[in-house]
Amino acid sequence: MFRIGCHLSVSKGYKAMAEDALLVGANTFQFFTRNPRGGSAKAIDEKDIEAFLAIAGENDFAFFLAHAPYTMNICAADAHIRKFAHDMMIDDLQRMEYLPGSLYNFHPGSHVNQGVETGIRFIIDTLNDVLKPEQTTTVLLETMAGKGSEIGRSFEELRTIIDGVTLSEKMGVCLDTCHIYDAGYNIVNDLDGVIAEFDRVIGLERLKAIHLNDSKNPYESHKDRHETIGNGSLGLETVTRVINHPKLRHLPFYLETPNELPGYAEEIKLLKKLYVPA
Ligand SMILES: [Zn+2]
Repeated sequence: MFRIGCHLSVSKGYKAMAEDALLVGANTFQFFTRNPRGGSAKAIDEKDIEAFLAIAGENDFAFFLAHAPYTMNICAADAHIRKFAHDMMIDDLQRMEYLPGSLYNFHPGSHVNQGVETGIRFIIDTLNDVLKPEQTTTVLLETMAGKGSEIGRSFEELRTIIDGVTLSEKMGVCLDTCHIYDAGYNIVNDLDGVIAEFDRVIGLERLKAIHLNDSKNPYESHKDRHETIGNGSLGLETVTRVINHPKLRHLPFYLETPNELPGYAEEIKLLKKLYVPA
């Protein structure tokens, strides 16, 4: 089954989000756990969640992907910022249990001037503190474009983080097609090679989700600017190969392209046409 969705706003509640998903023809979706620039999250409304899960069940939705705020930096140099991010993650993971068995994705963070090693150590420390054996959520590290001092610009960095986490069975990876092309993984000319590299370094069993985005910038530019599907440096041919690749086609795909709902609906319609059923 082709699992395709997009980023939706949770600001009107969970039920409204499920209705938006139906509107754009999605059968999965991503949403921010709170304001993307950080700040406090709304209190959980259990009636709203119930209504949401009913719509999701009737329509065979699956693989809800929550995205942490971009500003959440669990490897910040400032101990107060680090603590703030740590507490935010604990709060997010508690909320996630209202949607059992879901995915929670975050940007590993920016080490700024501390160096990659120190940054990675902080990330591991936080994960070892916030992950709980009883949680049903899988926590995903996102592959990053390598802008500034971002951690997660290589598969090796993600592997080092996972290796340091005691409850590593709770960990996975979300691969962003725009970011990895930006980071220097050439999925336009050698998709098979990049997937083999991912498998060798991290292991494909850790790959749980794909952020399906085209890129405004050329290969290896370390910029992180998403483009609408087919209109960037990846192009429709590469996107088509990604969604149909035998090692990827079973995964959920999430659009984070610069679109409002009608634009997402168009892209989902197009991708459903390009997806070749098994
Ligand atoms: Zn992201």
